[in-house]
Amino acid sequence: MSQKRIAIFGSTGSIGTQALDVIRANPDLFSAEILTAQSNDELLIKQALYFNPNVVVIGDEKKYLAVKEALSKTDVKVFAGEAALAEAASMDCYDMMLAAIVGYAGLRPTLNAIELGKPIALANKETLVVAGDIVMRQAAEKRIPIIPVDSEHSAIFQCLVGEGRNKIEKIILTASGGPFLGKKPNFLVNVKKDHALQHPNWSMGAKITIDSATLMNKGLEMIEAKWLFNLDAHQIQVVVHPQSIIHSMVMFNDGSIKAQMGMPDMKLPIQYALAFPQRIANDFPRYDFKKPNNLSFEEPDLKTFRNLALATDALYKGGNMPCILNAANEIAVFAFLRNRIGFLDMTEMVEQTMAKVHFIEQPTLQEYFDTDAEARDFAASLVHM
Ligand code: NDP
Ligand code: MG
Repeated sequence: MSQKRIAIFGSTGSIGTQALDVIRANPDLFSAEILTAQSNDELLIKQALYFNPNVVVIGDEKKYLAVKEALSKTDVKVFAGEAALAEAASMDCYDMMLAAIVGYAGLRPTLNAIELGKPIALANKETLVVAGDIVMRQAAEKRIPIIPVDSEHSAIFQCLVGEGRNKIEKIILTASGGPFLGKKPNFLVNVKKDHALQHPNWSMGAKITIDSATLMNKGLEMIEAKWLFNLDAHQIQVVVHPQSIIHSMVMFNDGSIKAQMGMPDMKLPIQYALAFPQRIANDFPRYDFKKPNNLSFEEPDLKTFRNLALATDALYKGGNMPCILNAANEIAVFAFLRNRIGFLDMTEMVEQTMAKVHFIEQPTLQEYFDTDAEARDFAASLVHM
């Protein structure tokens, strides 16, 4: 394999830094060509000095001078601002984008990369939740692959390799259950941010860690799976598997089930997506069948974790409903992380926003943008933000 030039959008985040670990460990295979951050200028500068990319972008324009100054002795091009982030994705200097920005903000750059005909390694699930139909259609038109980085979707993708046109009966998305597995609303009502930020199996960015604690993450992943694998809503099942060893499964139309297993380590799906169809040898810890291994499975508690029920509703309803759900959830998580609302209030906020913002069955891209803005405004008005 010749060296692949990677554009990492969101290089300072949990996924972004782990992707750079993979690139650092495999310099013959990969180079980092574009790096972007929102406000973490210090880490972006460090990364740029080490990887010597073609371009860096800092979202926060106030940080431009600091980054420019620090990289003045290099030939790294420095840009700043939201528009520059999207424009950088249109620069033809890379072979694959790793979409690792968190939230709706990742949509624009990813659409631009697709427009340019670049394959996408997709971590940013919100892109597909908001506008999955348009993203997948445009990718198909450009004949470029969207390779999932999300561990569950990477698992399903890996199970589908070699299956050609064989029919999927359903997919089984595994969920760890998060830190509050088995808890009831009378406990959750008092949960504070520090507790919710402690995930038992994975170390991730703040937003997805809260989403994992509320099970919204699994709801977003159901919608992500629908678009990635062209499934109907009823073909997507969620099973709680607290050990996070089976990363997800596919049941085919003969009843046979394939699972992808391994230790919970995001570097694996990241390097799989970057190197696909090759696998890269590594010395990451291995799963050991000789050790006690009580792998268990149970139904999710939809009465307690109502976010998963709301996301399932949005999945079945379609149209702009997942976009509404996502926008309200982004505001809710933001408010919770700032101690403005309680743990269970996040669900209330999403539910009220879904009931309020007007439904569109087949939105255009502009209508998705408008829906996102309207849903954010309404959700924010609920907490006077
Ligand atoms: P982090 O919060 O750790 O990192 C987010 C990255 O995006 C950072 O580089 C951040 O810059 C940048 N960013 C934040 N806000 C904006 C914005 N408004 N505009 C442009 N850039 C922005 O998130 P994660 O790495 O945890 O997650 C990234 C995506 O991957 C999410 O969509 C998540 O759902 C998905 N994912 C993550 C997994 C994980 O293990 N972490 C697993 C599966 C999926 P700065 O550092 O400057 O703030
Ligand atoms: Mg996941």
